[in-house]
Amino acid sequence: SSSALSPINSGGRAEEMKTQEEKSTQPMSDLHNIDPELIQRMAYDALVWTSIHGLVVGDKSVPRSGKVPGVGLVHAPIALLPMSFPENHWKQACEVSPIFNELIDRVSLDGEFLQESLSRTKMVDAFTSRLMDIHSQMLENGKREEIRLGLHRSDYMLDEQTKLLLQIEINTISASFPGLGSLVSELHRSLLNQYKEQLGLDSRRIPRNAAVNGFAEALAKAWEEYSNPRAVVMFVVQTEERNMYDQHWLSTEFPFSCFPQLCNTYDVTTIRKTLAEIDEQGVLQPDGTLLVGDQAIGVIYFRAGYAPTDYPSESEWRARLLMEQSSAIKCPSISYHLAGTKKIQQELAKPNVLERFLENKDDIAKIRKCFAGLWSLDDSDIVKDAIERPEFYVMKPQREGGGNNIYGDDVRKSLLRLQEEGAEENAAYILMQRIFPTIAPTYLMRDGICHKDHAMSELGIYGAYLRNKENVIMNEQCGYLMRTKVSSSNEGGVAAGFAVLDSVYLN
Ligand code: ADP
Ligand code: MG
Ligand code: MG
Repeated sequence: SSSALSPINSGGRAEEMKTQEEKSTQPMSDLHNIDPELIQRMAYDALVWTSIHGLVVGDKSVPRSGKVPGVGLVHAPIALLPMSFPENHWKQACEVSPIFNELIDRVSLDGEFLQESLSRTKMVDAFTSRLMDIHSQMLENGKREEIRLGLHRSDYMLDEQTKLLLQIEINTISASFPGLGSLVSELHRSLLNQYKEQLGLDSRRIPRNAAVNGFAEALAKAWEEYSNPRAVVMFVVQTEERNMYDQHWLSTEFPFSCFPQLCNTYDVTTIRKTLAEIDEQGVLQPDGTLLVGDQAIGVIYFRAGYAPTDYPSESEWRARLLMEQSSAIKCPSISYHLAGTKKIQQELAKPNVLERFLENKDDIAKIRKCFAGLWSLDDSDIVKDAIERPEFYVMKPQREGGGNNIYGDDVRKSLLRLQEEGAEENAAYILMQRIFPTIAPTYLMRDGICHKDHAMSELGIYGAYLRNKENVIMNEQCGYLMRTKVSSSNEGGVAAGFAVLDSVYLN
């Protein structure tokens, strides 16, 4: 029809336009009745798109796919279409991002608070204890981090009953998918445009996702702050990493597209090293410069080192300590890492604790509004309730990367076991209010197969923070990641195989 091109001067035409407009803002929820043939066509196009645009991961079934780039690639697990999300909650999540960045920075400076809050956890959690030892050592040596870089992702679920946007956690180390997440938004926008007639959806309702640019810009600016033109940016990586393309997107992005003024003046190089390699090749010069091989390291970006399995021997711990002792800008520093633990999240949710770190009352209120119920296992009333009604709680150890939490009847069993043992082991965990997001039908794609299932989503907002001794250089919300998982699954990790990458359709 040509009506879209006609001037709207008669009543009839205006009506016609209105219908067109309404059609173009059809809610996502109508989409579970799409013609299966159309779904198959879109799925095919999505698969082609992912392949030619690098929305890919290493394929589990190909042994070398985690080591050698270009070998055994498969499309990342994705949702075929974006997930509907209310615009007001979207804005809320974006708005608090710089406040959370600032909060993490302030908390990181309070070594006593970190040590004190985690002191009981330290006694029962060997991994956290090792991290804290490095932290203590830095405190004793009076080590200062004047230039601080945070690349965070704060995750939320929208609780269906209360309509509250509640924070699941904030990731201060190895927040993943800034690269692939940006691509998913592009893919969805492209599909919505291509199938505009059939779907009647408006691609402009998928917010631009500049996560990869924002992170790359922050890394480049941090490198600039380090002020050594010969220094490089070092990515700390796992020995095997099937999510390597997400990381490569970041390093290819950063000299050129986001920071043009840099590439003309300098040549920023990134290198990738495992913790074991850093132990083998790293030396500290008397002035604090970290050399790996013969390269000076300006910025260290961790995409490993967040899980006990990343430290199979003393070698990896030596590498972590060496880096911490150096003058390189660490993303994250040991303090930022600890500030992102679940125990600290729970401590910050206690009355009057935020006030210790933030002055602005509005900021405090905005942050507090996002806090779900969080408790230590010392709270006997809560423990009693969790034993009686375990389905309303999640029990969390101090771990990252998905697959570590305890749900449902296991909460009851674990709490009872801890009570019987009367052990200090209590301190390894926190309890959190279980959040129940809306369940909606979704098309999930994995291994080239598209299937429909009931799913729920978790919204991640990326935040970049950079400061030097005098000034905050960057404190921004930059991009997002929607992750959607089948509703029968408790956990939400994409890499762990529970969820798919998704984007947001604002309504
Ligand atoms: P990790 O650091 O391992 O990602 P999270 O705290 O993010 O740990 O928990 C992992 C997953 O468990 C989340 O992505 C989410 O799907 C689920 N989850 C965590 N906390 C809650 C909660 N309070 N209510 C409902 N689901 C939760
Ligand atoms: Mg995490
Ligand atoms: Mg998480």
